Amino acid sequence: MMDINNIPDHPVVDNLRSTGYPNGREPVVMKCPKCGDECDFYFTDIDNEIVGCENCIGMYDAVDFVENEDI
Ligand SMILES: [Zn+2]
Repeated sequence: MMDINNIPDHPVVDNLRSTGYPNGREPVVMKCPKCGDECDFYFTDIDNEIVGCENCIGMYDAVDFVENEDI
């Protein structure tokens, strides 16, 4: 007869118990080098330099932007 107390836990249960995460790894938290906020995306310029993230990048309609510039 099978002893219910000797059944090994599923690996996910083991991981959750020891680390708190199902895969046993802490999720990587990315921070924007420009604003310091936690972010999921980086935006880069034409030279592949990071210019910001979804929290600190603005997007403007090009025509509206030019019309609002004092040039
Ligand atoms: Zn940012």
